[in-house]
Amino acid sequence: MKINRLLLFIVLLTLAAAAISPAAYRPETVRVAIARGMEEVRVDGDGMLVTDDKGTALAVDVPGIVRRSGGGTLVMGGTTSRRFTFASPSLVRINGRGYRGVIELHPADKGILVVNELPLEEYLVGLINCEISSLWPIEAVKAQAVIARSYAIYQKDNRKNALYHLESSVMDQVYNGADIEDSRAARAVKETEGEVLVHAGSIIQAFYHSNCGGHTEAAVNVWGADIPYLQGVECTYCVNTPPARWELTLGLKKIESLLKNAGYQFGTIREIRGGRLNDSGRLQNLLLVTSRGDAKISAVNFRKAIGYAVLKSTSFTIRQRGDEVLFSGAGNGHGVGLCQWGAKQRAGDGFSYREILNYYYPGVRLERLKN
Ligand SMILES: [Zn+2]
Repeated sequence: MKINRLLLFIVLLTLAAAAISPAAYRPETVRVAIARGMEEVRVDGDGMLVTDDKGTALAVDVPGIVRRSGGGTLVMGGTTSRRFTFASPSLVRINGRGYRGVIELHPADKGILVVNELPLEEYLVGLINCEISSLWPIEAVKAQAVIARSYAIYQKDNRKNALYHLESSVMDQVYNGADIEDSRAARAVKETEGEVLVHAGSIIQAFYHSNCGGHTEAAVNVWGADIPYLQGVECTYCVNTPPARWELTLGLKKIESLLKNAGYQFGTIREIRGGRLNDSGRLQNLLLVTSRGDAKISAVNFRKAIGYAVLKSTSFTIRQRGDEVLFSGAGNGHGVGLCQWGAKQRAGDGFSYREILNYYYPGVRLERLKN
């Protein structure tokens, strides 16, 4: 029943996505959750206009501190509101970091939610140096601009009724504001202005990752949804790059407690073995020998429980020495869609961004958004 519901949800998402055609869509701005959970936020900026939840201009001192107060409200310099909005002719600084566009502060279940609304193309210029380096060959930087634009528009449509469209972390796309913009990032965004990837008339959910380790992953192996343009392809280009190989040692007790924290009830774990490999060469599942008998866990769920940044991919072998488990792995990330390090090496070998995109997203077309 649970699985059927999940499938229905995916189908509904897919149907919702089918509505976004590049001809009909005008993504002027995106809304990005740039911080959450803080009890207080420091705001600074030149010539700042501060408004409350009714759009009334407020006479509050900037720089200033916004704090969470009782009853689902925020307070700044003695003024209380359900929302504060900040706009500056230059940058709005949140805890010292500069952002373009408008900043909104909302009281959340825990602490303060900070949302940055800004023009999509400006968001992309700041994003480049968070996701890759603008010093990479320019065709790789342009490929990054196109996939980040496509991904942002897809998520904007998916979450159009939510308070924001995008997380600023690896959960969506990393975004740390305007301070690390540079001219090469701006050039890549300008030279691909408005360009998105399209499949069957719809803008694609352009997943990407750092390093595939030799073969990209099919979406069906990670999320259970078979997406025609997210099939695994061979990628020998990233194999000799620095992040392609990794090793990790974890104690059995540590693994046990991480799995427990993630809600699994396996009992005492005595041994961990790699299970079946999928057709991209990644582990489909792991076998656990426990005090309650043998158990199985999908490699995707195991990685999630251990931590995405700790266990870098699901492509690894396992050796056990006593209570220590040694993971020897390849790649970094879920492996779906474009491999950033592969794209870098391809661009270095003279491939254009169009060729790079066509390789990692088979069957897609590059189109320009109509205004
Ligand atoms: Zn790769």
